[in-house]
Amino acid sequence: MLRQFIGITSQKTKNLKVLYRFIRQWGPIGVKTLSEMTGYKPTTCARLLDELVQAGLIHDSGLGESSGGRKPLMYVIRPDAFYLIGVELTNLYTTVLLLDLNLTILGTEKLKMDSQCTAQYTLDYVSRCINELLAKHDIPAEKMLGIGVGVLDPVDLERGIIVDSHLFPADGWHDFNLVKYLEQKNDTLVFLDNGTNLAALAEYRLNYWKETDSLVFVSSDMGIRSSMILKGKLVHQINEMDDALGHMILDIHGRRCTCGAYGCLQAYSSLPAIHHEVIHRLKRGQTSMLQQNMDADKVDFHHILEAMDGQDSLCLEVVKEAAYYFGIGLANLIFMLRPDIVICGGTLVPKPLFYEEASRTAHERVAIYPNCQVKIVQSSTAYNIVAQGAGCMVLDYFTSTEIK
Ligand SMILES: [Zn+2]
Repeated sequence: MLRQFIGITSQKTKNLKVLYRFIRQWGPIGVKTLSEMTGYKPTTCARLLDELVQAGLIHDSGLGESSGGRKPLMYVIRPDAFYLIGVELTNLYTTVLLLDLNLTILGTEKLKMDSQCTAQYTLDYVSRCINELLAKHDIPAEKMLGIGVGVLDPVDLERGIIVDSHLFPADGWHDFNLVKYLEQKNDTLVFLDNGTNLAALAEYRLNYWKETDSLVFVSSDMGIRSSMILKGKLVHQINEMDDALGHMILDIHGRRCTCGAYGCLQAYSSLPAIHHEVIHRLKRGQTSMLQQNMDADKVDFHHILEAMDGQDSLCLEVVKEAAYYFGIGLANLIFMLRPDIVICGGTLVPKPLFYEEASRTAHERVAIYPNCQVKIVQSSTAYNIVAQGAGCMVLDYFTSTEIK
């Protein structure tokens, strides 16, 4: 029945879709609340719910609390009614996930990207994995709703291509319509989006959907990226600018950024900026455990992470400063967008110091508005969050209740 939710003509199907969408978000949920939320009469609501049960899309969770009489039915969606495929393509790894409708990961396949991984080779691998994952879990092909693909590099959604694929270790990605290729190869719907957007979407649907409809996801790695959920929906720009937050200027007399401007957040809080600053201070002769083992030029980011674990004062100082600037950037973002929740992701967030210092700084700045109750939280450490978001995008396509 989920497939009938697309291109709806009848009012009844529309109502079924609205109910399914509410149960997906709020389940376990009873007929009384659903009737209040939708405005449908309780008897109509009960009849429609029965139809969703018959179609195998929802079931009673058994979690109803009895107030003396019979336990009320509390509905949840059936996670095994259909299945989703979530894919993440990066220049390092390709990840393929088999997900149920709760976005629970049932199976994972990974390909390390090397010089043989042309677009065609990689997407043939993805298609092979899909068949194998479905077979392994005894899932007939018609139960797969579609494939979602997330790419961290800029994508052209209209043309289904990766705009700048120069970091991929093999050729064949330039102007390659990966949506069309996967659709033909797998005879199913394929959706493509930017990886930062999909991480935000997965975090939202998995952890915060019941709490808010407005949040921002930020991450600091090679670049500083952000994505926003507004009124429960991903905000899409025509031009992909997910790393634009990195070029927010914090100090016009500050450090030179790779973009040519001075004082961008990227020049203080990204991994390359931290790496650069550590080497700079080592060369100026500041003491660090890193000097004992190697020349300053040989220090890479893994050495810095190790030194942080060893409480190296130079590395801790540089990271603390990077986190301070990141916190100022967060405060600026909060002032502008006023989200309820800011989720911080990226390599440094699970490490001590960075997240604590950044969120403390941001909270301090925001405190001039006592009414601002913004929550700044760490992203879940789920390694496959982008691919989970890619799968989520497929289910959202079928269940979104917007009128198009
Ligand atoms: Zn810049």
